[in-house]
Amino acid sequence: MTSPTVLIIGCGIAGPVLGNFYKRKGYRPIVFDKVPELGDAGASLMLMSNGLKVLNLVGLAEAVKAESTPLAAFWDAKSTGEVIGQSDLPSTFADKYRQPAVGIRRTTLNLMLKKMLLDLDVEVREGWELIDITETDESVTAIFDGGRSVTGSFLIGCDGIKAASRRSLLRNQGQAEDIPVFTGLTQTAGISETPAALRGLAAMRNWYGDGVHVISYPITPTQTSWAVTQRETQEKEETWRPYRPDEMTEQRAQLSSLLEGWDPSILKMINTSERIIKFGLFDREELKPSKWHSKRCVLVGDAAHPTSPHLGQGANQAFEDCFHLSHAMPFLDPNSKDYAEQLALLGPGLSEAIFKPFAEKRQPRTALLVQGARAQGNRRVATGSGACKERDAAIMESYANLAGIADKFESLLREPFQDL
Ligand SMILES: Cc1cc2nc3c(=O)[nH]c(=O)nc-3n(C[C@H](O)[C@H](O)[C@H](O)COP(=O)(O)OP(=O)(O)OC[C@H]3O[C@@H](n4cnc5c(N)ncnc54)[C@H](O)[C@@H]3O)c2cc1C
Repeated sequence: MTSPTVLIIGCGIAGPVLGNFYKRKGYRPIVFDKVPELGDAGASLMLMSNGLKVLNLVGLAEAVKAESTPLAAFWDAKSTGEVIGQSDLPSTFADKYRQPAVGIRRTTLNLMLKKMLLDLDVEVREGWELIDITETDESVTAIFDGGRSVTGSFLIGCDGIKAASRRSLLRNQGQAEDIPVFTGLTQTAGISETPAALRGLAAMRNWYGDGVHVISYPITPTQTSWAVTQRETQEKEETWRPYRPDEMTEQRAQLSSLLEGWDPSILKMINTSERIIKFGLFDREELKPSKWHSKRCVLVGDAAHPTSPHLGQGANQAFEDCFHLSHAMPFLDPNSKDYAEQLALLGPGLSEAIFKPFAEKRQPRTALLVQGARAQGNRRVATGSGACKERDAAIMESYANLAGIADKFESLLREPFQDL
C-alpha cells in the first residue's frame, strides 16, 4: 500500500516539523527547499514555551535546552543601562507551561531539524525552488525551477514571508499577490561572547533610546544574540547575508557612532561580534482564513501570517500551526480496519473538512500577534524626547503590575495544547 505523498515546500521552521508529524502519521512527506544546502542562516530565535512544547513532540526540546540557557528574567533599561524594570517571570515558565523560553542560534536549530528528518528517513530535497502549483480535486502538482515537477496528494506551503506557494494559491483564487510591507524599521544583528557585565543573569534585555532599540538574549551559556532596531525610510532587503570582514568594520563604526553613550556592554558586543547582518523588517496585511487554503493546498507559518519579530512569536506560531494542522489529519495505518475510511478523508472533501477549520482556528490568533508585533516595534523605537519619556513611563508602569505581564504570557504560552 503506498502512503499518500505530502509535498512540503520550505525546510525552515515549520517544514521539518510537519515532515516529522506526517511521517509518523503514516504519510510520505517530501520536504523541498530552494537553498542548495540547508544550515547557515540569520542570527537566532527565542523559542518560547508554546513553541518548545511542539519541538518536544518531535523529540528536539531536550537538545535545544542542552544547547542554550533557559531565560530567567526580563530586564529593561534606558540606553545608558539605567534599569527601568526587571522581573524573574521567565524563570517560572518551565513549571507553569512545561517548557522554558530559550534562545538558540538559528543555524544550530536548522541543522537539528534537518538531521531529525534524515534520521526519520524523510526525503529532503535541497535546491528545489517552487515556481508554481496546479491542482485537481484529488491531487496537486508542484512545479519547480528547471522544469521539474512532483505530484502528491496535498501540498503545504511553508516557504516563508515571500512564499511562492502563497502567490500561486492567491493567483489560482483570482487574487493578485499582496506584497510584504516594510514596517519602517531595520535591524542590525549579531552574535557575540556574552560581556562580563551581562553574565550573571540569563535575561532578555531591552535598552530603549531615541529612535533606537537594542535587544539581547543568551543563545548558549557563553554567547549572546543582539539586535539594534532603528527607524529608516529606506527599505532594506532581508537577504540574511552576513557582512564580509571589510563591511563588518564599517558597520561597527556606524553602530558605535549611533550608540555613543549607551551601555558599554552593547558596544562591547558590537565590537566583538562574530557576524553582523542587517535586514529590513517586513510583515503583510492579514489574509482571510478562506485564502489560506485551496482544494489541495494549505499555508502555514510565515507563508500565511508573516510577522515582524518584536513579540518573538513568528517561529513559535509556526510550530503551533504544525501541531494543529497535523493533529487534525487522519492517522493512516494500512493494518487498521479503518484504513479505507481514513484515506477517504483525503479525498475531494479534504479542504472543507481539515484545511478550512485549521485556517479558521489559527487566523484570528496569528493576525492579532502580527498586529501586536508591529505596534510593539513602533512603541519600542519611539522618536523624540516626549515620546521616549512616555514609552519609558509605560514600561515602568507595566513592571509595577507584574500580574498583568503574567496574564499576557499566560494567553500565549499555555497554547497549543490547553484546549485539547
Ligand atoms: C530578525 C528576525 C528575528 C526573529 N526572531 C524570532 C524569535 O525570536 N522568535 C520567533 O518565534 N520568531 C522569530 N522570528 C520569526 C521567524 O523567523 C519566522 O516566523 C519563522 O522562521 C517562520 O517559519 P516558516 O517555516 O514559516 O518560514 P521560514 O523559517 O522563513 O522558512 C521558509 C523556508 O522556505 C524556503 N523557501 C522559500 N521560498 C521557497 C521556494 N520558492 N521554494 C522552496 N523553498 C523555499 C526558504 O529557503 C526557507 O528555508 C524572527 C524573524 C526575524 C525577521
